[in-house]
Amino acid sequence: MQAPQFIGGEFVSGHGQKHEVTSPWFGEVVGEFHYANNLDLDLAIEKAEAAFPDWSRMPMKERAQILFRFREILMRDIQEISHCISLENGKMLAESRAGLMKGIEVLEYALSLQNADQGGKMEVSRGVFCEYRREALGVVASITPFNFPAMVPMWTIPIALALGNCFVWKPSEKTPLTSFYLAKALQEAGIPKGVFTVLQGGVQIVEGILAHPKIKAVSFVGSTSVAKLVFEKGSQMHKRVLALGGAKNHIFLMPDADLGLAGKGIADSFTGCAGQRCMAASVLLPVANPQEQIQAIIAEAQKVKLGESMGALISREQVQFLKNAISQAESEGAKILLDGRKTPPPAGYEGGFWLGPTIIDQVKPGSMAATRELFGPVLSIVRTQSMKEAISIENENLYGNAASVFTNNGAVAEFIAQNAKAGMIGVNVGVPVPREPFSFGGIQESKFGHGDITGENSLNFWSDLKKVTTKWQSANDATWMS
Ligand code: NAD
Repeated sequence: MQAPQFIGGEFVSGHGQKHEVTSPWFGEVVGEFHYANNLDLDLAIEKAEAAFPDWSRMPMKERAQILFRFREILMRDIQEISHCISLENGKMLAESRAGLMKGIEVLEYALSLQNADQGGKMEVSRGVFCEYRREALGVVASITPFNFPAMVPMWTIPIALALGNCFVWKPSEKTPLTSFYLAKALQEAGIPKGVFTVLQGGVQIVEGILAHPKIKAVSFVGSTSVAKLVFEKGSQMHKRVLALGGAKNHIFLMPDADLGLAGKGIADSFTGCAGQRCMAASVLLPVANPQEQIQAIIAEAQKVKLGESMGALISREQVQFLKNAISQAESEGAKILLDGRKTPPPAGYEGGFWLGPTIIDQVKPGSMAATRELFGPVLSIVRTQSMKEAISIENENLYGNAASVFTNNGAVAEFIAQNAKAGMIGVNVGVPVPREPFSFGGIQESKFGHGDITGENSLNFWSDLKKVTTKWQSANDATWMS
């Protein structure tokens, strides 16, 4: 399979180095492509700049017609696209499909803007009217991670395009193949040449994007270390930057929690997408020994079957990193309640990158398993005796993406909602991703920049609000605005 660039409405090969795509299912090369170089970048931005005046002047209702067709094509081709996502990322097919559907939900939100985003106009003084007009920024860019090859890009593509921007997407070099399907769908939907661009590559092309004077805004999703870099470099170039980083999500578990909700909800949260989710449960904070609930989580996690209900990890190195992290916790005195290192790979996929669900108990606060983002199907249990102790552990962590509480007590749930330092809170929900139109975004080291990446709180990132004050009658002059 190929992962071409999409520049000026054409699929073309890049002029940078050659790169291979390895499928986590098999551990074998399934695609190859060339990175874009700086000349490809310059050409792409030139084409995007040329397309901007017509695209941004088109009424939003007309742009929405193209995006409606985009949605129809994605729905028509959903199976094929989901297969590609699974092949290059290692997810289960159902997970790939669900991710794309979540991306389509953002597209539906973007389509609603033609009716919902009315701006606003009022008579502020006799005969004098003030109004808001939303204006596109110009050429904008988005840099995305490997873990959701379609969903994360679809957080930004539809909203930025609906608002009239020309969009440059740099997919992860680990999962570049899916970008071909999204670009092909937009091409078939009739997106004008230059309005949508795909540039393949790694660090060099990201640096090119951040340095390019014609790119007005950059969104980034990936690890915290790179998010910080992107935020700093992009801001130095006076770009608008929103950079979402990594996570270490805590789950508070109370002895009164519903066994069914907690068992399945928490097991699904740390094993879904093989734990490679920025919203995955990572640290479990049981308060006052909810032993039955912990047994329910173990029982649910034991049901997970590699290759049947849980997919593969992105690379051989990542499997090794996780195995080392588990061994390190063990050597520091933690107890392994469920050991995924011993789970055999599924038959026929022995060459792939596998690790079974792992639960580590008695993890020490401050240790690597308690504080570092591991990004795999590993749940670290840090035992606590009181809510005060549990909340202080959560609050000390540098990240702030998500936190959840499992309880039947409304006051406890409200206490967590008020006091956990996280941008997205779940009550009896293991993966508290806000559904549209509620916006997605963390706080602390999980996000650099203002606003969120989807929903209403993303609109001011992808556009400027122009304020227009109008007066047509000379009769009403006697106000301070005359
Ligand atoms: P990553 O940071 O390694 O890569 C993300 C993007 O940055 C890729 O496109 C990559 O090519 C580019 N990149 C990598 N190193 C770079 C560098 N030194 N300079 C410039 N660009 C660079 O992340 P990943 O491994 O692809 O994805 C996993 C990470 O993403 C996890 O930390 C996860 O928590 C995070 N993530 C966060 C969210 C969120 O909403 N907060 C969502 C999904 C994933």
